[in-house]
Amino acid sequence: MIGDSQDEGLLGAVASALVAIDELQNLTMFQMPYPSSVQRALDKIVLHCLYQGALPPGSVAALVRWGYERPLGTWPLMLDTGIYPVDGFLIDEESGSPTELCHEIALCAETDNPLWEASHRMATLAALATERGQDSTFGTMRSVLAKHPMLTNELFNAVRFANNLGALEKRLGEFYQKIGPEYEVDGAVFPCAHCGTPLLPTDAGSWWCEREECSAGGPVSPDDPVDWDAKVSIQTDRRHRQFVSGPGRAVLRIASSLALPRVTVRLWPAQSPGDLRVKVADVLKWTAAIVDWHNPALLGRAIAATTAWSGTDTAIWVVAQYRVDADPAYLQLVRKYGTTAAGSPRVCSEEEFTSMVRRHSEESGRA
Ligand SMILES: [Zn+2]
Repeated sequence: MIGDSQDEGLLGAVASALVAIDELQNLTMFQMPYPSSVQRALDKIVLHCLYQGALPPGSVAALVRWGYERPLGTWPLMLDTGIYPVDGFLIDEESGSPTELCHEIALCAETDNPLWEASHRMATLAALATERGQDSTFGTMRSVLAKHPMLTNELFNAVRFANNLGALEKRLGEFYQKIGPEYEVDGAVFPCAHCGTPLLPTDAGSWWCEREECSAGGPVSPDDPVDWDAKVSIQTDRRHRQFVSGPGRAVLRIASSLALPRVTVRLWPAQSPGDLRVKVADVLKWTAAIVDWHNPALLGRAIAATTAWSGTDTAIWVVAQYRVDADPAYLQLVRKYGTTAAGSPRVCSEEEFTSMVRRHSEESGRA
C-alpha cells in the first residue's frame, strides 16, 4: 500500500527490517548472517546513500542507531512531509524498540490492505465461531484479548474457565508466548498500571510502555509486579497488540459508555464487519470500526485501501480519543488521505461518536 515513490518504498523496507530485528529477541542478532530481508534493506539504503553522496549506515547496528538518532526529516530520502513527520522516529531511544509509527510504516509497506492484514487472524476465528454456530464466542475471545496483554499460567487457566470460549478455547494459547528476558526486573515482570502491557525498563531507570496511549498523560507507572516464576506469557506479537488487541481496549471503553436507554450494542459481531454494531430503539444505526493509529495520513490510506478492496464502506471509523486530543488536525488528515473516487470515509472521534449515540437515544425517547 506504500506510495509510488522509490524513497518511500525504501523507508518501508527499513521500517520492516527494524521490526524484524526487534522480533528476533535475541542478543546475537547483530551477528552475521542477518535475516535476508534485513540484509536487503541495509544494502538498499547503503546503495541509495552512495548515489546521493550521503554517508551510509555501515552495519545493521548503525541502521538501528539511525532509527533513534535521526528524525525522518534528516534521512537522505525525499518523503512527503504531509505523511511522514520530519520529527518522527522509527526507534524509541529509551527502550530501543520500534515506535508505533515504525510498525505502521512497516505494515503499510508489506501489504496492499493493512487493516485486513493486521486482523486476518481474527477473521479466521470469526469464521470458525460462525461455522460452529457459536457466534458469541468470537466477541468473548476479542474481549479476553483486549483485557489481557499478559497472563500468568494460573491466570490463563482462570480466564479460560471464566469465559465461554467454546470452539475457540483451544485457540487461546496461540495468542500467548513465553515472555522475553528483556521484561524481567529483579525476578519480576511489571505490567503497565494503565493498560496492563508488560513494561520495559529504560537505561534512565524509568519505564516504557509500547502503547503511546499510556505516556500521553505523563510518565508511565508500573502496577504490582508479577513474579517471574509464575510463568508469565505475553500476548503475541507486537503487531497484533498494536493493531488488534490494543484498540480493543477502546472498543470496550466505548461500549461501556453507551449503556444508554434504548441503545443496544453488540461487540465484535462474528458475521459482519466492524467492532461495534449499535442499535437505537431496535433499529441498526451504525457499524463502527475503532482505530488507533499514530499516523493519521497512513491510517487514511489504509482506510482507502480497505474501502477499495471491499468495494463498500458501510462503517463509521471511530478514532481513539487521545489521538485526536494530541493532534487537532488528525481527523481532517484521515479524511484527506482516506478519500477515494467513492468519496470520503466517515470518520469521527470517540467522543463525537458517543455524543451522537447519546443524542439519538434522547431523541428516540421523545418520539
Ligand atoms: Zn500501557
